[in-house]
Amino acid sequence: MSRFCYVNGRYLPHANGMVHIEDRGYQLADGIYEVVPIYHGKLVDMEQHLDRLAYSLGELRIAPPMERNALRLVMRELIARNGVTNGLIYLQVTRGVAPREHKFPKKTKSSLVMTTKKTKPVAPELLEKGAAIITQRDLRWLRRDIKSIGLLPNVLAKQAASEQGAFEAWLVDDAGYITEGSSTNAWIVKAGPDGKARELITRPLGHDILGGITRRGVVDLAKEQGLNLVQRPFSLEEALSAAEAFQTSSSAFVLPVTSIDGKAIGDGKPGPMTMRLREIYCRYAEQGE
Ligand code: PMP
Repeated sequence: MSRFCYVNGRYLPHANGMVHIEDRGYQLADGIYEVVPIYHGKLVDMEQHLDRLAYSLGELRIAPPMERNALRLVMRELIARNGVTNGLIYLQVTRGVAPREHKFPKKTKSSLVMTTKKTKPVAPELLEKGAAIITQRDLRWLRRDIKSIGLLPNVLAKQAASEQGAFEAWLVDDAGYITEGSSTNAWIVKAGPDGKARELITRPLGHDILGGITRRGVVDLAKEQGLNLVQRPFSLEEALSAAEAFQTSSSAFVLPVTSIDGKAIGDGKPGPMTMRLREIYCRYAEQGE
């Protein structure tokens, strides 16, 4: 079956999906994006993703490309045409096509592009062993809550991880605190005084991290489970001495992290609280729309 994309009102064969060279996304990274997971044929947390899309657009004063209902219809149509049961749908909205100039053009129509991707489940070896990650200095701008397509620092961090045989790079701010991963939110579990896993820690929402939709799901589920959740910044030193670590994202849900910069976390194996949260989250994801 051929693969389709959606570009400004048209469903096209993927290979023919193109935007103009003066699209402000291409010229200036003047745009935003969303990635919604498709799990067992259902869209996970679609409404939260559409809320975040609207938030990113609003913060940048980019006009919504279409009504929310129409957006939902196009998403479902593209997923159906491409026969995606497990994977993701990518949406990108830019300020549109205009002669290149920094300030907003007087008249322009937002561009909307959508693509889908089929993905395989997280490899069992990765879940068994957990991910090795490295750290990198956080070089990004100060509005990381906006899901901007300007991703150069994220690209460089992920490339550094890849070159070092690691799965992800967690980013460290100038005060020595972890902000988040290059495309994930970062979590640690700290042992209580009796040696049992106790505090579940992740950085609070604000301008310095992206408000991950998976992060939010895990926060809600952790609260429901009565876990001791603390939303506060944590340092690299604290992460290195944590009992467990994991990361969250739409692409891999809850993924155990078992080494940071070559140092084992806890006993070097995926932790029990991490795996419990993974299981609970996967069950939750199955109830998508
Ligand atoms: N932080 C960053 C910088 C990201 O790019 C992503 C992935 N979009 C996340 C966190 C995780 O967000 P979500 O759970 O919504 O995929």
